[in-house]
Amino acid sequence: MSQIDAIVIGSGPNGLSAAIVLAQAGCKVVVFEAEKTIGGGARSAELTLPGFVHDVCSAVHPFAVASPFWRTLPLAARGLEWIEPPAMIGHPFDDSSAILIERSLDATVAALGRDGQAYLNIIGTVVEDWPRLERAVLGPVTLPRHPFALARFGLSALRSAERLAKSAFKEERTRAMFAGIAAHALMPLDHALTAGVGLTLGAMCHVPGWPIPRGGSQRITDALVAHLQSLGGEVVADARVKSIDKLPPAKAILCDLSPKPLLAVAGHTFPKAYRQKLERYRYGMGAFKVDWALAAPIPWRADECRRAGTVHLGGSLKEIADSEKAAWEGRVSDRPYVLLSQPTLFDPSRAPVGKHVVWGYCHVPGGSTVNMLDRIERQIERFAPGFRDRVLARSVMTPADIESHNANLVGGDIASGVPDLRQFFTRPTRSTYSTPVKGLYICSAATPPGVGVHGMCGYFAAQRAIKDLFRESMGDGRKSQVDSREDGV
Ligand SMILES: Cc1cc2nc3c(=O)[nH]c(=O)nc-3n(C[C@H](O)[C@H](O)[C@H](O)COP(=O)(O)OP(=O)(O)OC[C@H]3O[C@@H](n4cnc5c(N)ncnc54)[C@H](O)[C@@H]3O)c2cc1C
Repeated sequence: MSQIDAIVIGSGPNGLSAAIVLAQAGCKVVVFEAEKTIGGGARSAELTLPGFVHDVCSAVHPFAVASPFWRTLPLAARGLEWIEPPAMIGHPFDDSSAILIERSLDATVAALGRDGQAYLNIIGTVVEDWPRLERAVLGPVTLPRHPFALARFGLSALRSAERLAKSAFKEERTRAMFAGIAAHALMPLDHALTAGVGLTLGAMCHVPGWPIPRGGSQRITDALVAHLQSLGGEVVADARVKSIDKLPPAKAILCDLSPKPLLAVAGHTFPKAYRQKLERYRYGMGAFKVDWALAAPIPWRADECRRAGTVHLGGSLKEIADSEKAAWEGRVSDRPYVLLSQPTLFDPSRAPVGKHVVWGYCHVPGGSTVNMLDRIERQIERFAPGFRDRVLARSVMTPADIESHNANLVGGDIASGVPDLRQFFTRPTRSTYSTPVKGLYICSAATPPGVGVHGMCGYFAAQRAIKDLFRESMGDGRKSQVDSREDGV
């Protein structure tokens, strides 16, 4: 290989984004990926039957469209096409009815009846403020440019989802719907900050939407790789880095790794105090994931759920809260809260004619070995009797399988670390992207702003590296296109 300026370990969305920022700055960049396929948490594969394209990890992508960095990239020209389902979220109930979160805020408010005004007050405010909030929510802690909007958001966001839902909404159904959104937090719903997840993801329904990429999440990766290659960058698959000592010489190494795999490749180079901080990093709940190949769409009793890209199965707020608490406390729920995506209703390219793929998972204790397949399918049958009759094939991933697909997801923790108050703003340590070793950085979802396919962790880590190592030699003209005044790097 010719002289390399920067190496990225791991080709997840953050690793590829970091590589693009560095390549944009004129660096010669090489990405080494352990697995045979590129993309980490944004990959697709025929997990069940030939012709059925499933998303191995991420499926629904509000933050990919909201990403301030990816907005600047020509990803559409590299083949990435977003599909917006007619409705963003469906939340069915036992009486055969459902709440639908529409793309339109007004339509959603109108359908919520007595709780419409409260929805407008809490979610609508975040929608309105989003242009002033996005850099704070999708970035590291820094001096805010819009302190009033941030303070207004923060006052609600710091609360627990349970308290916010109970105080804001009158109807049990609306409370349940909000709980379903907030339960993406991977924390019990009585914990601080879970309201923030509900508010942010709720607002995303009306800002970028909750879209899916045509062809599956692999298309996000393919577009990022094509763009990186156009800038002269390289990606080498099936190239697990065992130790950073074995890498070719480079000025910068950026690790798209969470603390455990980071310690495995670079732990010996860190001072003891830093190593101990990484060892104390807390991973959280795991996921138990199922992908189905179906002979026909899911037969929802609430037929309107066919309009939704994502469906949340958990009935009431109490049931969802109990399920999340159980997983957090090391138990499994008999009626787990299930997150489900039904992409082929809107993208027929992913299955043979008339057939469908469905993606779903529930939260379980980190590393759990309990088989949740029957419990998950019983939850689907509860709202869609006859579902099992339509199943042609299944693929099941336990937390251990998820970790074996991607070393970052320790114990099947899809968030690469507990996103609670102690670990949300200062992931994985106070130094976030930097390490005590000159030229060695962390760029994974274990840094701010954390979990999700958006590339912002990679963007900020690469900005940090450029500022530390390359800016003088390259001059300001080679900075990335995103305004970095607020980058906190
Ligand atoms: C089941 C599941 C469902 C999800 N659903 C969604 C969703 O719908 N929407 C959403 O936005 N997000 C979702 N996520 C989360 C999202 O996938 C992650 O937050 C995101 O992929 C993190 O990106 P990353 O670049 O930080 O790391 P990753 O995507 O984890 O990539 C890290 C890469 O590093 C590689 N690697 C690890 N060790 C080494 C090594 N030693 N040498 C070389 N390479 C190495 C790994 O193989 C991997 O490719 C989901 C995740 C999972 C697992």
